Amino acid sequence: MSELPYSYDAPVSQALFDRASVVTPGGVNSPVRAFRAVGGTPRFMVSGAGPYLTDADGREYVDLVCSWGPMILGHSHPEVIAAVQEAVTRGTSFGTPGEGEVALAEEIVARIGPVDQVRLVSSGTEATMSAIRLARGFTRRTKVIKFAGCYHGHVDSLLAAAGSGVATFALPDTPGVTGAQAGDTIVLPYNDLESVQEAFHRHPGEIACVITEASPGNMGVVPPLPGFNQGLKDACRANGALFVSDEVMTGFRTSRAGWFGIDGVTPDLMTFGKVMGGGFPAAAFGGRADVMEHLAPAGPVYQAGTLSGNPVATAAGLAQLRLLDDAAYVKVNEVSTQIQSLVSEALTKEGVAHTLQSASNMFSVFFTDRPVRDYEDAKAQESFRFTAFFHSLLANGVYLPPSSFESWFVSTAHDDTAVQRIADALPAAARAAAEATAE
Ligand SMILES: *Cc1c(COP(=O)(O)O)cnc(C)c1O
Repeated sequence: MSELPYSYDAPVSQALFDRASVVTPGGVNSPVRAFRAVGGTPRFMVSGAGPYLTDADGREYVDLVCSWGPMILGHSHPEVIAAVQEAVTRGTSFGTPGEGEVALAEEIVARIGPVDQVRLVSSGTEATMSAIRLARGFTRRTKVIKFAGCYHGHVDSLLAAAGSGVATFALPDTPGVTGAQAGDTIVLPYNDLESVQEAFHRHPGEIACVITEASPGNMGVVPPLPGFNQGLKDACRANGALFVSDEVMTGFRTSRAGWFGIDGVTPDLMTFGKVMGGGFPAAAFGGRADVMEHLAPAGPVYQAGTLSGNPVATAAGLAQLRLLDDAAYVKVNEVSTQIQSLVSEALTKEGVAHTLQSASNMFSVFFTDRPVRDYEDAKAQESFRFTAFFHSLLANGVYLPPSSFESWFVSTAHDDTAVQRIADALPAAARAAAEATAE
């Protein structure tokens, strides 16, 4: 990476990364964190407060990752921290039922109309994996339709043409996933209802479910075209399959009731994570009672977890959800709109072709002048411009997702001071993007 013009250094982060690389594959516990798509030294963070992160070298950044979505109230929100501290003093895990998990489930059911019942798990991956198993157990069918560029966690059968890190590294497939697992997955282009109809015709009585991101954010932000989610729902109903809406990213972020609160399309099953954990490992899947009742111990489909409904994680999640009233979403949406305008203005001024796409307060920049409707469109952008843009912002104290295939995230804590810092850093970044050349 020595040829890259990003010569400002991060010696403490680099030393930590060197240490990490000895004991951890690639030096990280989740691939995109390693900065491979953009090069340079991944920043090891030591603390977060409001809209800011501080790294091991003592540099402060305006954070536009927000832990990939969860920190919608900013870092170290005093009321969330207080709830966590209160929970911790009572003990950290009991392996029994507890009131916190009931209260969190009630909060989710109260917010999301189509969710009659919910089961708590510890990660979004676990939520989608369990939802797929339940859909197969309920329908007694094997095949699953997913869309290219949608990421549903690292579930074996759902890694085909996945977004997020799989998109970042342009991995066509993942070794370790068997032919049988991949063979039961039908991957279709996003926003293409015709191909969904065709797949149902080709595999009569075989498709257990269609799973989609409610509004995809893992190939950059690519919202569903009008009628797409409803079309999926209708196709599922007509063919005896379940419609599974993955709201791990959009749930409790895009509105009080997530993307469902925006498009109103009723799924059979839904998955949640990120925001609902308040920065802790808590996730969930839920939906129609008659489907959920197929789960053990009520029904025959097995699913379990030692730390499921963990009292500290549920306390954090519940505290965060209770603070997320309508005013909070108005605030996050406003900040998001403000930052989007600043980014677009800066890039336009430097003549950089770009398309800003948003889904409520989630947004991302594609370095192309064409609208991005699916994964092929997303891959056609000039990602080398993003690399230059990213490093210029990083050097000037703005922390973006280290990949052009990820959504940017803001919080209620992004105040005028934080937005001004972004505004100050953008002109140089836009210039860097304009001057960038493909390798
Ligand atoms: C993040 C994400 C997941 C996976 O959640 P993890 O908690 O990382 O396992 C699944 N689906 C979507 C849409 C996501 O954004």
